[in-house]
Amino acid sequence: MAVLRFDNVSKRYDSGHHALTDVSFEVAIGEMLFITGHSGAGKSTLLKLIHLSERASRGAVLFGERNLAKVRGGRIALHRRDVGVVYQDHRLLTDRSVADNVGLPLVLRGMRRGDIAKRVRSVLEKVGLGARANALPGQLSAGEQQRVGIARAIIGEPKLLVADEPTGNLDPTLSAEILDLFASLPERGTSVLIASHDLNLLKRMKKRVLVLNQGRLVDDISPQDLAE
Ligand code: ADP
Ligand code: ADP
Repeated sequence: MAVLRFDNVSKRYDSGHHALTDVSFEVAIGEMLFITGHSGAGKSTLLKLIHLSERASRGAVLFGERNLAKVRGGRIALHRRDVGVVYQDHRLLTDRSVADNVGLPLVLRGMRRGDIAKRVRSVLEKVGLGARANALPGQLSAGEQQRVGIARAIIGEPKLLVADEPTGNLDPTLSAEILDLFASLPERGTSVLIASHDLNLLKRMKKRVLVLNQGRLVDDISPQDLAE
């Protein structure tokens, strides 16, 4: 059973630029995989189609049974509850504590404060930041800030976690730690799709890798093939 399916998806921006052309692939429930390619290959665009900050021009993006072309209006916010997003620059609110940043998705859902506080504590423990709940993001290291971003993305227990160059601002050791966190954290059954151009890091993870080149999916490398 697939959590995500791209069926001959193309994306042409209003500028006329073809960012994706005829892209097809499936992500299984619980699978972790990467998408790579040079800058401008279409990685961010592909992720944006999944959380509906862009729309496909042709083809279908299916999220489980949900055809995203039909998700409009208020249902966009509901769809986004199922997709946790981690950004390279983590996009934390600088004037709110770590705990407030992490709890925000649940506040927006109208969950009760006591329940939110419990969930925040538990997820901060998981990412190793139990002691930093009251800190402001600016008081944390780059690696810690990215952990906060991950905690915020998983607190709503999304079906799919997507990350756009989540290690882009980190040194190799921290990058490896963050990717290990991605591999270990999500609830069983959560799928994880990470865009990264860092080939050395990808090889180390031994996961499936999709390769984009100028908007076309040119390779789909299994973990076994990566090892060779
Ligand atoms: P990547 O994430 O692999 O670097 P992107 O998906 O960001 O690639 O970009 C793919 C191509 O689409 C690039 O040529 C980029 O300049 C172009 N592009 C991205 N966003 C837009 C946009 N909003 N309008 C026009 N062109 C865009
Ligand atoms: P991201 O970090 O999300 O990949 P980028 O830094 O690539 O975003 O781009 C910032 C914004 O500019 C995005 O909204 C993207 O869609 C847009 N953009 C990127 N390339 C182009 C382009 N060639 N023309 C117009 N907009 C672009």
